[in-house]
Parts: sequence; structure tokens; C-alpha cells
Amino acid sequence: MAGIYVHIPFCKAKCRYCDFTSYPDKIGFSDAYMACVLKEMEFRSTDLKNVIFDTVYFGGGTPSVIDPKWIIGCMNQIRKCFCLKENPEVTIEINPGTLDREKYENYKRAGINRFSVGLQSALDAQLQELGRIHSANDFVNACAILKGKNFNADIMIGLKGQAFSDVCRSIDLACQCGAKHISMYALTPEEGTPMFSEEYLNGDLPDDDETAELYDRSRKYLADLGYIRYEVSNFSKPGFESRHNLNYWKRGEYIGFGVSASSFMCRRRFTNTPDLDEYIKCILSGYYPVIDNAEISDEEAKSEKIMLALRTVKGLSIDEYRSLFHSEFVIDYFDALKKNKDYLDFDGKNVRIKDQYLYVQNTIICDFMK
Ligand code: SF4
Repeated sequence: MAGIYVHIPFCKAKCRYCDFTSYPDKIGFSDAYMACVLKEMEFRSTDLKNVIFDTVYFGGGTPSVIDPKWIIGCMNQIRKCFCLKENPEVTIEINPGTLDREKYENYKRAGINRFSVGLQSALDAQLQELGRIHSANDFVNACAILKGKNFNADIMIGLKGQAFSDVCRSIDLACQCGAKHISMYALTPEEGTPMFSEEYLNGDLPDDDETAELYDRSRKYLADLGYIRYEVSNFSKPGFESRHNLNYWKRGEYIGFGVSASSFMCRRRFTNTPDLDEYIKCILSGYYPVIDNAEISDEEAKSEKIMLALRTVKGLSIDEYRSLFHSEFVIDYFDALKKNKDYLDFDGKNVRIKDQYLYVQNTIICDFMK
């Protein structure tokens, strides 16, 4: 199975920590841009006619700021150009404060059956500090529209002055509003963003150890509320794991459309230009807007497989590794296994990072990279 990702790079304002490809001042280009996205799908249709897609994900940016007719148009184009499995998972990212009932009805018509809502924090002061456009109350209103539906809430840890009780308030709000899935990410102010130059360099944000402790207490709190961790940053009620993201962690194939979208197809990884003008120009001239395109070697494929699998609670299946690479994991990674034996659970069939070390998996995974 494979996934489809559609990047919609428009936002109402730029958050102070964000370095995603998102434009707060170019919403006027959204009609031209979306017409190009439909065209890009058409370009790819012949090459991908034998691929069966199981999930579609509209991410951004803020997909919910554009006219919902484009979401309907994209889904029609996807059904026309590609082979979509029965009952696909179709997700759209929503910024609270940009959803209303009419939009929701249009999303339903498009076939959207999963929503991802960026709560980030239940405290308005923290939302303002992050430069978010919404309030906690906007989140409550959005959830009232999504009542009973399959939706995720994103929350952030590692915020300035954030106590464990603050994180609990965010988790409680998401839970009370009916979120079936919670993604919990640590704030990482990226270089070049306002937050990097201010709080980060002043040391006002919690350090890695403090954030790790916050994460650990929060994951236990989530577990008490019935949200089962299945990947380092992702927790869900049973049966509500994100199929789209699971495909990434299984190293499944996916195709991305739109600016900066990346793809993994036929052993190649490729990425579209992050420049909106260049993207539109390429599509209008009949070219793929790709800037990077590389074939993945066997060694890189092994590293990717291990890195992605070890982020998940299930870990890596030794049988799957053998059948994919015709090689023995224990022999290939004998030294790394020995060095990290205290951090790993290994029963001969699966290797996984022990629960208490999953958050700090990066240092462990580095030993498996060749
Ligand atoms: S809403 Fe998301 S994509 Fe847009 S500026 Fe904020 S963090 Fe970035």
C-alpha cells in the first residue's frame, strides 16, 4: 500500500517557531497553486497507474484556510488519476479558528474521514507566545463540529515556563473534546525563526533533560487516559492509529504533491521545490518541479528501515529484515546490538527500544547508521 500527500502552503500568520514551507501572505495565489497541484497529479498518473493508494493526507501550512472546493477538486482528481483502495483514510490538517460547519460539510463531501487539529496548548498565553492565531476556545468550537469523528489533536511540550500541570491541561482538553489520537511533539525552534533568536539563545526554554522528563510524565498520563503510544510522538485510542503515518514508519511508498512535498517511489526519494513561483512556473511549462532525486542504495535502505522501525513501539521485525534485504540483522548490526543491549528488548524475533528510552532514541539509532 502507498500514501498520497498534498501540501497546502498557506497560513493566516507565521508562527514564531515555524520553518515549514508556509506562506502567510500569499493566500491570493491559492487558486493558481491548487490548479497546478491538480496538473501535477495528472503528470504522475501514467507512471503510478499500477500503484494502489490506501491513504491521502492534506498537510501544510494550513489546508483549512483555502476554499474547500479545492479539497473536493483534489479528491476528484486523485480518484480520476490514481487507484484508491476501498475505504481509504483521508486526513486534513485543521487550524482551530478556520473551521466552520459549511467547510466541514464540504470536507465530508470530499471524503475526508480523519482530521488533525493543531491545539498545541490549552493555555491562551502559551498559544500567543508561540504566535498561533487561535485560542483554546477556538479548539473547543472546532471539536464541537467534529464531535464523534476520528480526529487527532497536536500538542507541544518544552514550551517556555511550561509545567507538567500545563501539559495535563492540554491533554485533558483534547481528551474531553473527543480526540481519538494525540500527537505530542517537543518544541524545536528552528534556526532563522524569531523564537530561535530570542528564547532559545537566552536559555529560557527547558533543556533536553527537562523536556525528556516532561515527556515521560506526559506519556504515562496519556496511558492512564487510554491513549496507547505506538510511535515516539503518537498516541491513540485502540484502532485509531494513523494509517498514513504508519506507512511512513513501515518505509512504505508515498507520493507528494505541491511545494516542498517529498516522495518515495520505486527505490527513489525525490523532493519538489519549496519555491512557490518556481513550482507554478515548472508545472505551467510541463515539467516536474523536482529539485532532489536520488536512488536509495541497499545500505541506505537498511539504515532507513531500522531508523523508522525503532521509532515505533513494535520495533523491527527480524523476519521482515531478512526477507527485504536477504541478510541477517544480528550479523549486520552485531556491534550496535551489543553496545545498546541495555536499551533494547530483543527476543530473537523483534528488536525494539525499551519503553523508558524511546524518547531518546536518536542516540541509540545513530549506532545503527552505517
Ligand atoms: S500554522 Fe503550522 S505551518 Fe502555519 S505557520 Fe503555524 S506552525 Fe507553521
